[in-house]
Amino acid sequence: MFNKVLIANRGEIALRVLRACKELGIATVAVHSTADNAAMHVRLADESVCIGPPPARDSYLNIPSILAACEISGADAVHPGYGFLSENARFADILDAHNITFIGPTADHIRIMGDKIEAKRTAQRLGIPVVPGSPGAVTDDDEAMRIARDIGFPVLVKASAGGGGRGMKVAHTAADLSLALATARSEAGAAFGDDAVYLEKYLGKPRHIEVQVFGDGMGKAVHLGERDCSLQRRHQKVWEEARSPALDDEQRRRIGEICANAMAELRYRGAGTIEFLYENGEFYFIEMNTRLQVEHPVTEAITGLDLVHEQIRVAAGLGLSVTQSDVQFSGHAIECRINAEDPRTFAPSPGQISYYHAPGGLGVRVDSGVYQGYTIPPFYDSLIGKLIVHGRSRNECLMRLRRALDEIIVDGVKTTLPLFQDLVDNPDMQRGDYDIHWLEQYLAAAAKAA
Ligand code: ADP
Repeated sequence: MFNKVLIANRGEIALRVLRACKELGIATVAVHSTADNAAMHVRLADESVCIGPPPARDSYLNIPSILAACEISGADAVHPGYGFLSENARFADILDAHNITFIGPTADHIRIMGDKIEAKRTAQRLGIPVVPGSPGAVTDDDEAMRIARDIGFPVLVKASAGGGGRGMKVAHTAADLSLALATARSEAGAAFGDDAVYLEKYLGKPRHIEVQVFGDGMGKAVHLGERDCSLQRRHQKVWEEARSPALDDEQRRRIGEICANAMAELRYRGAGTIEFLYENGEFYFIEMNTRLQVEHPVTEAITGLDLVHEQIRVAAGLGLSVTQSDVQFSGHAIECRINAEDPRTFAPSPGQISYYHAPGGLGVRVDSGVYQGYTIPPFYDSLIGKLIVHGRSRNECLMRLRRALDEIIVDGVKTTLPLFQDLVDNPDMQRGDYDIHWLEQYLAAAAKAA
């Protein structure tokens, strides 16, 4: 087992990883920018190292600084959290070269899954169902038109290097295709320095359902069920739940087995998420994330497993603590991502939290790095915490969520809490009847009514 883990992240996820390390008796090193001197993960870590000024590229993304922090502190492993360097294959390679363990998959697997075309090819080879589309990048507009007609309009033009929904354009008819190709290429070139794009059938009313997988890197893998992350704004997840209101036990078992078998064949190591769009009873692979996800706590709630403990075990070569038959699903869990943003315009609202009260009680978990008097810096994402509730049924979960939302107080900055208070009382949400466009439509209707 490791002696000392350096946590190359900030905010709630740095604290989340720190808690797991403490439980396992591993010493922790926090790294932070000058904007995060007073952050909770810095206060609670055994040691901390300042790695640079506020902009992430000079601190949390600064590989030489993080490496220096490893050397100074004598850390023997690095947990990257999510975002920042968590899916950076070069970072994984560099740590490897310095005999420091990257708590995550191999650099090769990060590379394959980081390239969407390569990822889709790999998924298909491993027996995972994919969205119909071009077999690879499309460079020629005439060829693109032939493929699009084959798939049938509407089609989606996607960037191979894509992320965060950038470089993605819908062509509703043949007349839209050349503009969609040109826009997606130039957006992708500007954002990722790679203008390769490919085509996919555009699904009209899908749900976003993702499967949590775990591999030991030696050919054993399990799935931990699915999460439904259909409630999105601008392709960003807002509310996640497990299990999906749309699946029955048999569908869950089938897609889970496909994913676990694929990961075993790949000899995948660590935590991963295989993301699908789901429409009319069919799953369509869109991408795989080779890291821990923001929404992992809903899976922890229904399985009772600590996913960060498992990541650390696997990275230390101890294998998984469970086999597939040990994994049992219990009840229902919902996570709300609480952002420091205006609940209507979603404009960021950094500043000082003048009063803070976290909810508690049975089945309520808050993962957050904030405290009363803490000042949210303007330099990073606006997530200030995650409220996760668990109940025996989806209904009990919703009742508990409503109660917890009544209890929580975050004063001094605007937050998205009022949005969740509305959503929990919405009949569609109560029925679990929503697709990936539902929230945008709901917000547009609310804006019109106001
Ligand atoms: P990114 O990595 O940029 O987030 P993804 O491939 O994960 O891109 O897709 C992001 C979101 O875009 C999905 O959650 C879904 O809302 C939408 N999307 C992606 N592919 C399709 C498709 N073929 N049809 C309809 N919507 C899609």
